[in-house]
Amino acid sequence: ESSPRSFKRAILKLSGEALREPGSTDNISPEIVERIASEVRDALAPGDLELGIVVGGGNFWRGASASARGMDRATADYVGMLATVMNSLALQGSLEHHGVTCVVQSAIEMKNVAETFIRRKAERHLGERRVVIFAAGTGSPFFSTDTTAALRASEMGADVVFKATMVDGVYDSDPKKNPDAKRYSRIGFQDCISRQLKVMDATAFSLCMDNNIPIVIFDLGPAGNITKALRGEQIGTVVTG
Ligand code: UDP
Repeated sequence: ESSPRSFKRAILKLSGEALREPGSTDNISPEIVERIASEVRDALAPGDLELGIVVGGGNFWRGASASARGMDRATADYVGMLATVMNSLALQGSLEHHGVTCVVQSAIEMKNVAETFIRRKAERHLGERRVVIFAAGTGSPFFSTDTTAALRASEMGADVVFKATMVDGVYDSDPKKNPDAKRYSRIGFQDCISRQLKVMDATAFSLCMDNNIPIVIFDLGPAGNITKALRGEQIGTVVTG
């Protein structure tokens, strides 16, 4: 099977919230995780993509919200990073269930459940077509998992970052408030800054911009979208230099 893919190595960022069934009290829906894993497997089927995955933790916990309610920010952020480890393990289980070999590397040492993040080992896994799930964020408080995705993409020499989220791209105004809001299929980093369009948090955005790594924002809701994106089909918004 051929794909129009123009990239060889990619980082996929999944928001933690995406693993939760809307309205459910379960933080992780095993069915949704299975669905995501099967889409990743389909995308990997041609066998030529090197894929790293970063999962958020927002389905369990966000450091900034806990801090706004009085908790020490750094402590709250460590709790958030640990949440991403739970999501990473769940995703690893489903990927392996679908026959995708994958390794979890944690930025916080947790050697009974995951390898520790070691850049050169991670690169080696990718080169051997093992999916690497980067858990525990950057390992430092005050950062986000979007920044983790941008950082790992930079370190791994990835060609692109895919941000799978709840919106289907970047708009010229808030589509929830403005019915005439227009979605960009392609936009430059500088235009995002001058038009004050929020793609990722500032740290993540500038890392991608400085290292010239395009960001693709797309909606992971509709079935098949993750596969389409990772196969290089036109989807969502591409932010480039
Ligand atoms: N976090 C952190 N450092 C990192 C990555 C994440 O402290 O490098 C913490 C932070 O508290 C964050 C939480 O982990 O709120 C969950 O990550 P994030 O909010 O990015 O998850 P998402 O919104 O993608 O589900």
